[in-house]
Amino acid sequence: MFKDVISFIRELYKSDTFIPLHEPRFIGNEKKYINECIDSTFVSSVGEFVDRFEADVAKYTGSKYAIATVNGTAALHVALLLAGVVENDEVITQPLTFIATVNALSYIGAHPVFVDVDKETMGLSAGKLEHFLLHNTEIIRGECVNKVSKRKIKAVVPMHTFGFPAKIEDIVSVCGKYNLKVVEDAAESLGSYYKNQHTGTFGLLGTLSFNGNKTITTGGGGMILTNDETLAKKAKHITTT
Ligand SMILES: *Cc1c(COP(=O)(O)O)cnc(C)c1O
Repeated sequence: MFKDVISFIRELYKSDTFIPLHEPRFIGNEKKYINECIDSTFVSSVGEFVDRFEADVAKYTGSKYAIATVNGTAALHVALLLAGVVENDEVITQPLTFIATVNALSYIGAHPVFVDVDKETMGLSAGKLEHFLLHNTEIIRGECVNKVSKRKIKAVVPMHTFGFPAKIEDIVSVCGKYNLKVVEDAAESLGSYYKNQHTGTFGLLGTLSFNGNKTITTGGGGMILTNDETLAKKAKHITTT
């Protein structure tokens, strides 16, 4: 018997120091498909495998559309652009995340505002989000403005930490009151459901990562999820140009 989860994992990985998130295992048709892919010459952003992967992820997550990207960071970057985030806007996210969440918004020239997580879920706290918005923002001509910085807040990026779903319905409902777009960073939560609905499908857009340390891997890769046809078409355009 182990006294806690950490000692269990340390024993599993025979390591006292470094514990990998996920070690990829290639025990299926990976090599066969890579050869087929090379033979087809469609080795970049289009081809039969990309179409199949997008269709499979859409079906599995229940998202109407799934758009493949080069990695999870690019998926977030494009999703934020599609949510209307521009330079000097603010985007609310959680401090407990991988740095890529914040890098993606900084590539647009937007500024992060950190709202803490709930201890229970390790995901963005809907209560703390509402408290922050109530005390620090006002709605001016339909847009949420930070009273302290005077900048517009455009979007909120909750993250489902280590596959554990945040209380996403509450977050989406708070964001609705303040006219904020929700972009779910579901990089770590492929296969995680909140009330029988797949994570990444509650917001306007959601993003996945298929990096080597994630639930499933394509080497490098990511996906944008959305139910909005116009946004899906724009996402395909931006990510293939
Ligand atoms: C891995 C990860 C990303 C970035 O994905 P990449 O495919 O490595 O670019 C973004 N957000 C979170 C929370 C992640 O864990």
